[in-house]
Amino acid sequence: MNPTKLPYNNPRYLCSVAHHREMPKPVSAEYCVLGRSNVGKSSFINHVLEKRNLAHVSKMPGKTKCANFFRINDTMIWVDLPGYGYAKTSQSEKERWSKLIKEYCEKRENLYGVIWLIDIRHAGMKADIDAYEWISGLGLSVFPVITKSDKLTQSDCIKNVREIERCFNFSPRPVVYSIHKDISRVKFWEAFSAWIELLASKRNA
Ligand code: GDP
Repeated sequence: MNPTKLPYNNPRYLCSVAHHREMPKPVSAEYCVLGRSNVGKSSFINHVLEKRNLAHVSKMPGKTKCANFFRINDTMIWVDLPGYGYAKTSQSEKERWSKLIKEYCEKRENLYGVIWLIDIRHAGMKADIDAYEWISGLGLSVFPVITKSDKLTQSDCIKNVREIERCFNFSPRPVVYSIHKDISRVKFWEAFSAWIELLASKRNA
């Protein structure tokens, strides 16, 4: 894919909602971005869309308390969901977040697929295994992204990617991502665009 012609077009923030009842009217295809707290979700969104402060990046895990809607181009919206698996949150907050994630994923009629993030250093964590089983059980299509690849040596990267693939048996294969490598962005959009086309051809079959 030509890096000067990536498929987003002036991405922008639309709104944030804390409860399912506040969700905006479904207008175009939505893809949600999901992952464990601190997996690098906000950093990924900002980097892959080349917009520095689109999603708020913080070093404190557990900060994304709402579902945040972003317009990516004329035909696509991304929804940044709260990170799961953060231990230091109160039980009532955890329950609200998981209700928000659950209701969005189960009820959103224009949800076409899940961009699912896993930290390259944490293969096979229980919170991820549980989340993946639940998403797959809903019949949602998953596009896997393995984050923070620059944190490991190349040989450890290869080892951990294999381990993650062995745990989850993904299709399509995951994109290995680092916010410090611009080639990650090009690779993501190439694979993600092909996946969107595949989903469309399945829907039309
Ligand atoms: P979120 O809680 O999932 O939204 O995670 P953040 O985007 O806030 O990132 C958590 C931490 O991981 C921050 O300190 C980021 O700078 C760091 N981070 C995210 N992506 C990468 C990456 O690709 N490489 C490195 N080295 N650090 C990253």
